[in-house]
Amino acid sequence: MRSEFSYICPKSLKEALEILTDYGKRARVIAGGTDLMTEIREGKLEAELLVDITRVPELRFIREEGNQTSLGPLTTHAELVSSMPIMRGAPVLGRAAHSVGSVQIRNIGTIGGNIVNASPAADTTPALVVLGAQVVLERRGGERTLPITDLYLAPYRTVIKPQELVTKITFDKVSNGWSSSFIKLARRKALAIARMNVAVLAKMEGKRAKEVRISVGSSTPTPCRMEKAEALLKGTVPSAAIIEEASQAVAQEMVERSGVRSSTGYKRPAVQGLVKRALQEVLAINQ
Ligand SMILES: Cc1cc2nc3c(=O)[nH]c(=O)nc-3n(C[C@H](O)[C@H](O)[C@H](O)COP(=O)(O)OP(=O)(O)OC[C@H]3O[C@@H](n4cnc5c(N)ncnc54)[C@H](O)[C@@H]3O)c2cc1C
Repeated sequence: MRSEFSYICPKSLKEALEILTDYGKRARVIAGGTDLMTEIREGKLEAELLVDITRVPELRFIREEGNQTSLGPLTTHAELVSSMPIMRGAPVLGRAAHSVGSVQIRNIGTIGGNIVNASPAADTTPALVVLGAQVVLERRGGERTLPITDLYLAPYRTVIKPQELVTKITFDKVSNGWSSSFIKLARRKALAIARMNVAVLAKMEGKRAKEVRISVGSSTPTPCRMEKAEALLKGTVPSAAIIEEASQAVAQEMVERSGVRSSTGYKRPAVQGLVKRALQEVLAINQ
């Protein structure tokens, strides 16, 4: 714990990566600061240098490249919401970003910070999981690309090394024939970190569900897809009964992955209800 630290604001990616290599664990990246400021205020920052990456131009972009969309980590939640490529090619992410905090938080908070902070309640993560997002991590002299689900070790812990920066997030566009839903159950309407959220993506072929992807936030130790429920739905002509069964399967998988806790009594029916609503929306089943 330290109350004093230095601050540096690199102007290029190369410079930022040099600094991170030189300082290693003694440096900490700051983007919008909406998560990190809490740590600083509580006197929990252990680094001696804050590396402000907000002036690194290479990290701020939204690009469409063929069938893929790429985002720079400095893309704010507000920029996601107002981006045509996102609202057209990945509306589930746009809805997730729209649900984040307040206008002020959405204007400053970035998708990179949301991913790296690794809160189980992060809103963009379930959306990125169902999109099958890949995350590019760069360090001086090299880079690696990981599926977003491979980033996480535990709540608030990732595999990202102190020398590495998230430099790009990519996913395939899901416009033609895909539909999606993002629903958040929060304590209060504004400024509430999600108690629970669900992202669902589905591709229909005629009346059949060709593929369904489900991810639930704040419910499993690390972000993941709910594969048992997805398998139940795949290839079916969705009905109220199958949606009920799939929602129960998600709740069951949550308990299997997290174990029974004091919150299970509340979370089990809550997750079941949320998933049911999201599936009804995506598969156009009215009950
Ligand atoms: C009042 C309030 C309400 C909120 N509501 C919500 C909500 O509803 N939903 C939600 O999901 N979140 C919410 N948050 C959390 C926060 O706003 C988001 O997680 C935000 O996206 C974090 O982005 P940031 O740029 O501010 O990250 P920062 O605070 O700057 O950084 C967060 C972490 O990421 C690291 N980091 C940032 N960028 C990079 C990078 N490119 N490479 C490597 N490491 C990096 C930092 O070192 C730090 O560890 C809320 C926060 C507050 C204060």
